[in-house]
Amino acid sequence: MAVFSKLGNEYEEVVFFHDPPSGLRAIVAIHSTALGPALGGTRFFPFESEGDALTDAIRLAKAMTYKAAAGGLDLGGGKAVIIGDPRRAKSEELLRAYGRFIESLGGRYITAEDVGTSRPDMDVLRRETRWVTGVSKRLGGSGDPSPVTAYGVFQGLKACAEEALRTSSLEGARVVVQGAGKVGSTLVKHLVEAGAVVTVADVDVDAVARVVARHGVDTAEPEKAHAMECDIFAPCAMGAVIRNDTLPELKCRVVAGAANNQLERPEHADALADLGILYAPDFVINAGGLINVADELNGYDRERAMAKVERIYRTLREVFQRAQLERITPSRAAERLAEDRIARVSRVRLLWVQGQAR
Ligand code: NAD
Repeated sequence: MAVFSKLGNEYEEVVFFHDPPSGLRAIVAIHSTALGPALGGTRFFPFESEGDALTDAIRLAKAMTYKAAAGGLDLGGGKAVIIGDPRRAKSEELLRAYGRFIESLGGRYITAEDVGTSRPDMDVLRRETRWVTGVSKRLGGSGDPSPVTAYGVFQGLKACAEEALRTSSLEGARVVVQGAGKVGSTLVKHLVEAGAVVTVADVDVDAVARVVARHGVDTAEPEKAHAMECDIFAPCAMGAVIRNDTLPELKCRVVAGAANNQLERPEHADALADLGILYAPDFVINAGGLINVADELNGYDRERAMAKVERIYRTLREVFQRAQLERITPSRAAERLAEDRIARVSRVRLLWVQGQAR
């Protein structure tokens, strides 16, 4: 497997961990520590090949650099993968071996939960390493990040409404929320409280029933949610909802939601702009969960974390303004915002480090 060619001119460090007795095979990819230690979750997944595992780790690590930078955090980007089926391969021994490996990185990489790992797993890691977030509240953690992510998305939707609907209020706005899971259901609550007219869609009928019982909202067929006429389509289920086949069916003015990787391909950002649909870059609007776990590093304070999450509103306003000024898509504007911050702030950090050395 060619490793260095996959890394191009990027990535600071890729570490392979191997603990044969427990069966642990893990890869930690650190894309950048220019703004601070690289924080990103651990994905436990039965990858088809070691090459696929590496590709996923490095792709996700880079995305975390942008998410943290745009979120105004003093963190870089990293991600880890453990190769295997978590239902069969996960054990205390394996997790603790993994925790020891993370500890050996001396804080350059900080982990959190992701697909295939959970809060109880983070508690096990904590027994071996300090460098883990998303642990239980009794261990000083911040608990489930989903409600905070939803609050951040809600703040972001206000910025979208100002930009595309020319109103500072979501009252009366027609919003279709795709996915009534942990984030989607809380987002519905905020929207209903703000007076929005909400429709939910989910493949899980029980999830829909719960949200309808609580908030009395309308429902839509999950496969038709993206094609409903509305002001805001909020993808809060899976990724790649904006594709060649769904784009011509959109009847919304804004696409903005919690799901990661909403665009199947980067050029779909241009396609949305051509249709006159405003797109809130997912890594900006869904950063609430990351901002929340990052606060654990200073001793978790929910009020402080929520105040930082509220800044998503301002960041998105900035992204939209820059997009207009520079005649680029909001996705590109958000990337530039992150890249600029990395360039400017890491220079100052460098001065500080040099000053220390004198
Ligand atoms: P979740 O698993 O609780 O909810 C997802 C919901 O989507 C489920 O109810 C599922 O039935 C539904 N769903 C799946 N396929 C669907 C389809 N085709 N149409 C409609 N509904 C469908 O997950 P979550 O934690 O609420 O996260 C939602 C999205 O937000 C994910 O893409 C996740 O990666 C992203 N995200 C979550 C967080 C967080 O803090 N939880 C943070 C950042 C990003």
